[in-house]
Amino acid sequence: MAKFDYDLFVIGGGSGGVRAGRVAAGLGKKVGIAEEYRYGGTCVIRGCVPKKLFVYASQFPEHFEDAAGYGWTVPPASFDWPTLIANKDREIARLEGLYRKGLDGAGADILDCRAELVDAHTIRLVGENRTATADQILIATGGRPNPHAALPGHDLCISSNEAFHLEELPRAIVIAGGGYIAVEFANIFHGLGVDTTLVYRGKEILNRFDADLRGMLHETMEKKGIRILCHTIFEKVERNGDGRLSAHLSNGETIAADQVMLALGRIPNTQGLGLEAAGVATGPAGQIMVDDYSRTNIDNIWAIGDVTDRVQLTPVAIHEAMCFVDTAFRDKPTRPDHDNVPTAVFSQPEIGTVGLAEDVAAKRFEEIEVYRAVFRPMRHTLAGRDEKMLMKLVVDAASRRVVGVHVLGPDAGEMAQILGIAVKARLTKEDFDRTMALHPSAAEELVTMYQPSYRVKYGERAAA
Ligand code: NDP
Repeated sequence: MAKFDYDLFVIGGGSGGVRAGRVAAGLGKKVGIAEEYRYGGTCVIRGCVPKKLFVYASQFPEHFEDAAGYGWTVPPASFDWPTLIANKDREIARLEGLYRKGLDGAGADILDCRAELVDAHTIRLVGENRTATADQILIATGGRPNPHAALPGHDLCISSNEAFHLEELPRAIVIAGGGYIAVEFANIFHGLGVDTTLVYRGKEILNRFDADLRGMLHETMEKKGIRILCHTIFEKVERNGDGRLSAHLSNGETIAADQVMLALGRIPNTQGLGLEAAGVATGPAGQIMVDDYSRTNIDNIWAIGDVTDRVQLTPVAIHEAMCFVDTAFRDKPTRPDHDNVPTAVFSQPEIGTVGLAEDVAAKRFEEIEVYRAVFRPMRHTLAGRDEKMLMKLVVDAASRRVVGVHVLGPDAGEMAQILGIAVKARLTKEDFDRTMALHPSAAEELVTMYQPSYRVKYGERAAA
């Protein structure tokens, strides 16, 4: 008789956990997987996927406006929030079904319950009144929105979780934060006609991105009508007599809104998981500490994805899952590679980026060359839309390698995916130069910037 019920037990049915469970089961391993909410996890159920659907929905008013320049007369449009929610929910349910089907087809045991560790090989299946044992355990429980419990009135605020299920579209919203979620939702709500204010504690939104992208996005968002208050925080949030909310800000202002949203980062889901009982070590933010192969300090327990707080992105969790399966079940120890991860912010205009921001590259290399183009994309010309696109290459002058590419404008995310190959392959500026331009496209600019706009040597900007 087998020593354990399972070869692998996965706690958490998000992108990382499902991939690991499905692939390990496909290898003939006996796999159990438990999810307390819905299979698909944050990305599918209340993150990337429904967010992108909302982004599409919010872009239509600009498309209608732009259509006039191309000769179209568009009758007055109206928008129905419940229709969007219902259609989005149907699509999410379909995707959830596919996740379950994949697991089922591979032969995994799918459990719809919370799972907690009892010891290094035993899992309690909460609500089922039983335990299961496993040789290897993978924790992939993801993260949840930071509730900002220190803020008076934080319980009156919504997070991105609730934003996907609001019964009514608010007339006005105030959003705290300057990261991916705050910026994306500010654009979504504004696009849907909501009076939107973004409140960020720092000097400029999107802290970790190239300064050019941040500055130009900020300017464009403001031009569209989104109010952005930097160097400002919430002091308290209160419910008014009329049922609306008041956000009291550190600049002395009070803003009345129907919803107040907090998008202040996400924290690892480790509470009550039984980590102490199993002896699994966590870090200061509650994240599970892992080595380069995603193994915790307990030999047979592993962790991947947001719960480890390395790079909080779906494709990274999936990559970590594949590396875990190679390491644990294919006798092929594989370290996840977190270098040069392309990423997009689905703001309007969109950001797509891979590699180093100019200021980071300037610190890392003795001399860099910066190639920069700002122009009006062709599709905005007849539309009469006064919105610019930005493209920027950061090149290490010594090796000639393109170490960073930054795009702001239509389809920037799609470009970043492909540019990720070039940066990952360590291509040089000369490789970009000898690539034929594809005309007419916006992306052709990336291979036709022949002269540097400026150089940065020992951290100082110099003429080209
Ligand atoms: P981010 O880390 O992107 O941003 C968090 C924001 O909250 C920052 O602006 C931060 O400020 C601010 N903040 C944190 N704590 C406080 C505080 N106590 N008071 C005031 N401001 C505070 O997190 P998000 O919540 O936006 O998103 C979570 C993660 O999900 C992202 O890191 C990203 O990896 C992932 N994600 C990816 C998306 C994509 O790929 N398009 C979309 C959405 C999410 P500061 O900058 O000063 O630290």
